[in-house]
Amino acid sequence: MKIIAYGIRDDERPYLDEWSEEQGIAVKAVGDLLDETTVGLAKGYDGAVVYQQKPYTAAVLDQLAANGVTNLSLRNVGVDNVDANAVKRNGFKVTNVPAYSPAAIAELTVTQLMRLLRRTPTFDRKQAQGDLTWAPDIADELNTMTVGIVATGRIGRAAMQIYRGFGAKVIAYDVFHNPELEKQGIYVDTLDDLYAQADVISLHAPATKENDKMLNDEAFSKMKDGVWILNPARGALIDTDALIRALDSGKVAGAALDVYEDEVGIFNTDFGSFDAIPDERLKNLLKRENVLVTPHVAFYTRTAVKNMVQFALNNNKQLIETGQAENEVAF
Ligand code: NAD
Repeated sequence: MKIIAYGIRDDERPYLDEWSEEQGIAVKAVGDLLDETTVGLAKGYDGAVVYQQKPYTAAVLDQLAANGVTNLSLRNVGVDNVDANAVKRNGFKVTNVPAYSPAAIAELTVTQLMRLLRRTPTFDRKQAQGDLTWAPDIADELNTMTVGIVATGRIGRAAMQIYRGFGAKVIAYDVFHNPELEKQGIYVDTLDDLYAQADVISLHAPATKENDKMLNDEAFSKMKDGVWILNPARGALIDTDALIRALDSGKVAGAALDVYEDEVGIFNTDFGSFDAIPDERLKNLLKRENVLVTPHVAFYTRTAVKNMVQFALNNNKQLIETGQAENEVAF
């Protein structure tokens, strides 16, 4: 069995080599992404492992199939950049990695909340200036607060566990009610109920048509004064202009964002200087001490990266050996 893996970063390589050695299966690592210029490299392989934001076009998939490779395993969750018609036409089997480490996202979310509540960005700045005073930067305690979790999927539930460890009261909203959590009576009926009660709003829903810009001017107006907003899910969930207005008015006390509406092409790029970042709205947020932005790194831990690589390789091996895999995606 021979597998080719495209777009392999330096941080992924050790996990790929470890798997290859453990399984005794040859895996060719290619640094370039899968596109029309690199698809020819797949000739003679039984399967391909991939991860990229650029599209898997019909032309590339047709060529990949013509090269005899129809077992395609993505190292990430989303398959929206895969041409569905070309998948069906060529009889591709496609797998994804639906969960690589929910705890990784949950841990960063709560870390950033604690930094906001304890004003650590402000104390860091003051100390660098030789100012070791306390006032006026008095903090807040999470154990006195109600956290409203929007979406109780894998990540929402992982975050919930940590919030409870801090002693916070947790309430939640989801279009689907998890039976275990339902028994605990934590669900509110509507988002408006959650907005009315929550001191902290922790977003863990996927981006869909229904929840596009769900946190807009109207939603912010229904929240408690001084609410804290956490978004490690998808940028599309928040109307950024409305968030800036809510920060300016003090309605929102602060926010921690690992995602941003216009992040594609901006996050994971080195612009060389702060001024060179080509997005004025993002710079507006980055300049605020009560807003913490991270460039979509919640997933970027050793555990999650290892799981993305090795779960995808396991999926690919299963497809090659049996023609099916537990993480197969229906098109
Ligand atoms: P999941 O599929 O386990 O759970 C999603 C939950 O959202 C489900 O319970 C579903 O019922 C609920 N839901 C769907 N639409 C909703 C709506 N309109 N309102 C309320 N609830 C709704 O997903 P997960 O693994 O917990 O991931 C959640 C999201 O986190 C992903 O969709 C992704 O956008 C984001 N994510 C971010 C990173 C990162 O690095 N920042 C990494 C992985 C995932």
